[in-house]
Amino acid sequence: MLSVDSAIDLIIARAQPVDAHERVSLFEADGRVLAEDFIAGFPLPPFANSAVDGYAVRFGDLVVDQPTSLPVFGRVEAGAAAQALAAGSAARVFTGAPMPPGADTVFMQEDVTLAGDRVVLPAGLKRGANMRPAGEDVQEGEIALRKGARLRPQDVALAAALGAHQLVVAQRLRVGVFSTGNELAAPGGERNGAQIYDSNRFMLLAMLARLGCAPHDLGVLRDDPDHLAEALKAAAGEHDLLLTSGGVSTGEADYVKSALERIGSLTFWRMAIKPGRPVAMGVIDGTPVVGLPGNPVASFVTFVYVVRPLALALMGAEVARFKPLPVRAAFTYKKKAGRREFVRASLTPGADGVLEAQKFPREGAGLLSSLTQSDGFVELREDITRVEPGQSVGFLSYASLD
Ligand code: AMP
Ligand code: MG
Repeated sequence: MLSVDSAIDLIIARAQPVDAHERVSLFEADGRVLAEDFIAGFPLPPFANSAVDGYAVRFGDLVVDQPTSLPVFGRVEAGAAAQALAAGSAARVFTGAPMPPGADTVFMQEDVTLAGDRVVLPAGLKRGANMRPAGEDVQEGEIALRKGARLRPQDVALAAALGAHQLVVAQRLRVGVFSTGNELAAPGGERNGAQIYDSNRFMLLAMLARLGCAPHDLGVLRDDPDHLAEALKAAAGEHDLLLTSGGVSTGEADYVKSALERIGSLTFWRMAIKPGRPVAMGVIDGTPVVGLPGNPVASFVTFVYVVRPLALALMGAEVARFKPLPVRAAFTYKKKAGRREFVRASLTPGADGVLEAQKFPREGAGLLSSLTQSDGFVELREDITRVEPGQSVGFLSYASLD
């Protein structure tokens, strides 16, 4: 059985990035993967400017340790050009206005007193105070955004500040999603007494959309080995990645693994992860296929640890490891060494303000409410065998898993 880390390493090593790029407007760039380094063509800010509303001076004109009185000449508003500052004078400036050439320090208007056409400046300010030098944010020629970055709103803002209105991003990954199982009925339709409504497909499609993929709903496959193999083969040609859920354990009606072996190749089958152990990964006609477990919580966890890194690697995105945040366990838990376990938990601040993880009271891998009523997972690594109340554990919020 493969450990979670070795599975991820294997996935990243095997994934051949889909090299198709497109240019999108900044309005559509959020969540996309940057396909090339974005280099600053000029510094940010582009020119030295005032950080406050106030009075710009030459620091050298100030009297040491005493207030200084200077005549006020000139006024520079944001967006206006600045005249050079005459020696021995102050200029009225506003936030974002260019610094008058020669000026190097700005007094906030709240800190000065006006006397006729002169301004009295208190002692004690440092050279360069309240002034934003050109390039203090980003320097010309610097890599502002790296190839492989998954663009966030702040990244889009930086590109805009650097004058770009479009960015070159990886094309959305075409991901097809099947459910498998004779027991599955379509939500909105009839359900006979032995059926359940398919939920995994909707969860997986939504998770893929959050990753910036183009998810395609491929419906439900019956538990029939030939039907399954044919459908997978046909879909492989049309997609960059295929997902199935259900039909990967050792039961007699579990045909996904055998279909992979028959019409493609199996990369791995079992991972040391709970919930989620039976998860199959393989390749059909060059298209990676992941067979996720049928139980919804297992499907969720293995999506996060197998599909997510695979999809990101296929998009050419940097696959950063999760950084679980330390919280205090408010539960007791026993586990087997050698596998990674995920405990659904909610966070509440303890009496001292430190966040405490409360374990969801029930454990079944089929309990969807355990996911809807908790905040995230406590991640218990392979070497851990028990958790005691008060112990520090690593927590991953669902919001951090997109
Ligand atoms: P399997 O691995 O196919 O035996 O499925 C394990 C469990 O997950 C069974 O109880 C299935 O009914 C359930 N399951 C499989 N696929 C889905 C699905 N798409 N939505 C909800 N439950 C499912
Ligand atoms: Mg099944």
